Amino acid sequence: MTRILHRSIAAALPHAVSGQGVYIQDAEGRRYIDGSGGAAVSCLGHGNPEVLEAMRVQMDHIAYAHTSFFTTDVAERLAERLVRLAPEGLDYVYPVSGGSEAVEAALKMARQYFVEIGQPQRRHIIARRQSYHGNTIGALAAGGNAWRRAQFQPILPETHHVSPCYAYRDQRPDETTDAYAQRLAAELEAKIIELGADQVIAFVAEPVVGATMGAVPAVPGYFRLIREVCDRYGVLLILDEVMCGMGRTGSLFACTAEEVRPDLVTIAKGLGGGYQPIGAVMLSEQIYRAFADGSGLFQHGHTYIGHPVAAAAADKVVEILSRPGMMEHVQAMGERLQAGLDATLGQSPHVGDIRGRGLFRGIELVADKDGKASFDPALRIHARVKKEAMARGLMCYPMGGTIDGVHGDHVLLAPPYIIQPEEIDQIIDRLAGAI
Ligand code: PMP
Repeated sequence: MTRILHRSIAAALPHAVSGQGVYIQDAEGRRYIDGSGGAAVSCLGHGNPEVLEAMRVQMDHIAYAHTSFFTTDVAERLAERLVRLAPEGLDYVYPVSGGSEAVEAALKMARQYFVEIGQPQRRHIIARRQSYHGNTIGALAAGGNAWRRAQFQPILPETHHVSPCYAYRDQRPDETTDAYAQRLAAELEAKIIELGADQVIAFVAEPVVGATMGAVPAVPGYFRLIREVCDRYGVLLILDEVMCGMGRTGSLFACTAEEVRPDLVTIAKGLGGGYQPIGAVMLSEQIYRAFADGSGLFQHGHTYIGHPVAAAAADKVVEILSRPGMMEHVQAMGERLQAGLDATLGQSPHVGDIRGRGLFRGIELVADKDGKASFDPALRIHARVKKEAMARGLMCYPMGGTIDGVHGDHVLLAPPYIIQPEEIDQIIDRLAGAI
């Protein structure tokens, strides 16, 4: 009997009772390798003593202080650390409590930015098909407080979608990588022109697409061209690193590898490492200045922003992630994972593509390897693989091809960065068995 409305009502879930390192144990004493870090969250594994101690110390001082009355040393320290480690040009931090909140705040920040600089006519957001940026439904649209809504009218920005960068399926056989990237950039430019050259607020994209595509990086040069298009029309570039950020791909920020300068970056998940719910928007000086020299108030805010215990956990997580050798270990383990998956599953008739970067790898499952035909979504192959993996003591993150009617079943692997070679090999074995 449960009194919780679980996400999947019919599923009987095991009860997690403890976590240590890369393992989670359930009430029946079964151990699971956390091959997905939950949903790419647990970057340091479970039970990290340094993070727990940092939270304890902070709780002894103060557990909660509302940000309309106070700032805290710990939140300021976290912001300083993030700015120091971020790609150049991300100079300020807006703390929030999770990924959806970060995306919601970034969209509102982008919208209000244009109000502050006298371009209130901009009202369109462009994102990509088969993307996921969070679960909130524009709570603001439902609220009846005119003052809170005024600068965001029409309340829900109009959202439009262009093609994702998905070389495995969409790059034509006779097309070079450059030509493919240019075709996608041209599609974005055409969309901006269609909506009006001075009507678009922002383009939103994940540097490496996680939940909906299974660790798909963009082709080289794509984001540089996208940046050029955005600049041509004064459109802000928002990179959503909620899943692929915080070292997941082998660099603290995934966009470092793209050599692109975003205006706004959202982070969450690995930021708190699962120890606390926390996220953040990182923003450029230009955006900060517009607020500081304009109304002086970002018209947004939640009760738990800058939560001291969450900030203490995140500050310690980020400090550990930035230690020498950590990102090199992620890269080395990621390469071992890719090589092992290629060797074990590369020839499987139902494995179409194995891709990713760092400890962020996706396996695309297909009905027919040569034609790349997807399975019938009704078969829910991804969910069956997850179930089989759980029965073998492995957590992997499944995704189905029903979103937006686009291709395929995938499973995502995103284990904690503390993982060791023999555990990587176990993940591969168990996943191969499940598939
Ligand atoms: N953006 C991306 C890229 C995500 O992967 C997710 C979560 N899967 C979110 C936003 C939303 O984050 P949260 O679930 O913490 O609200």
